[in-house]
Amino acid sequence: MKLILLGPPGAGKGTIAALISEKYKIPGISTGDIFRKAVKDSTPLGIKVKEIMNKGELVPDEVTCDLVKERLGQDDVKNGYMLDGFPRTIPQAESLSTFAEIDIVINFICSNDVVISRLSGRRICRECGKIYHVTNMPPKTEGVCDICSGELYIRDDDKIESIKNRLEIYKEQTEPLINFYKNLNLLKDIDSSKTPKKAMEQITEIL
Ligand code: AMP
Repeated sequence: MKLILLGPPGAGKGTIAALISEKYKIPGISTGDIFRKAVKDSTPLGIKVKEIMNKGELVPDEVTCDLVKERLGQDDVKNGYMLDGFPRTIPQAESLSTFAEIDIVINFICSNDVVISRLSGRRICRECGKIYHVTNMPPKTEGVCDICSGELYIRDDDKIESIKNRLEIYKEQTEPLINFYKNLNLLKDIDSSKTPKKAMEQITEIL
């Protein structure tokens, strides 16, 4: 099973990716997570993409596609995988089709108001990456991860100016992928504006 999770930032892709991964035993590949780790570790890639990410802009297609191609060559993806946050442009989707055969694209539908409220309240564990929300999904102890006791932090690009920029970029560059995959008969819509449980019910039915 080879899946793409498509949708605006804040639509719940990361939260749902963790649930799909657990239920269907397939690895989730998040280009955003790979870039964030590179920034944290100050690798040459991280130094290159840090500013781009902070502003909420997109890393160049070539850099991103090479990274995904390499990742899909690794052993753990043999029985399937899920791409979260890739592709994000038509050239990325075209490039992907030259090295992978996708079965289903899940299109997360969620209003702008909901995504803005989710992104501005999002908190992430610095150690294990678990995602929380200050009101919708709070940790038991403020600022501390329930699972590993890691420190929770706010992503630099979850500040309001970057959020607005990311949503505009989504509309201009990523939304055209909805028609791209619809034309290939791969697209399945889900309403991701409610709880993760409700989103998972729809996804289970599709899969
Ligand atoms: P995400 O965690 O998916 O919201 O991604 C965080 C940031 O990483 C994005 O705002 C971009 O700067 C960068 N990024 C992640 N995936 C891609 C991609 N497929 N193409 C270009 N930039 C990306």
